[in-house]
Amino acid sequence: MNKNENPCFHNECGRFCCKPVKVRAFTQLDEKAKEKFKHIGRFARESCPDSYKLDFYSCKEFDEQTGKCKDYENRPDLCKNTKCGLFDCKNEEERKRLLKGHREKFYEIYEPKK
Ligand code: SF4
Repeated sequence: MNKNENPCFHNECGRFCCKPVKVRAFTQLDEKAKEKFKHIGRFARESCPDSYKLDFYSCKEFDEQTGKCKDYENRPDLCKNTKCGLFDCKNEEERKRLLKGHREKFYEIYEPKK
């Protein structure tokens, strides 16, 4: 992979981390994340609906054309502290296992308005 290639596309993943952004439910977003993210809904894993729930967000910095962040240097801590295991994965079996996880399905949880 050359240094200009998008590592996400290289790993046949592309949009798992940023479209949508997935955050454990009830996590307090920092100020940068609040400015960049818009809440979509609360979701559960189809394969394990009783595990922790996730809040999904769209991010205004995600570039649909390139699959890259438009403001990478100024991304929220939440993004800085997240690194996909596929980036450094050299083992083919491990790579397949991680990709399978990245393609998991979710369903939205209906939450009545209070
Ligand atoms: S700020 Fe950048 S890295 Fe963070 S979710 Fe948005 S597009 Fe992705």
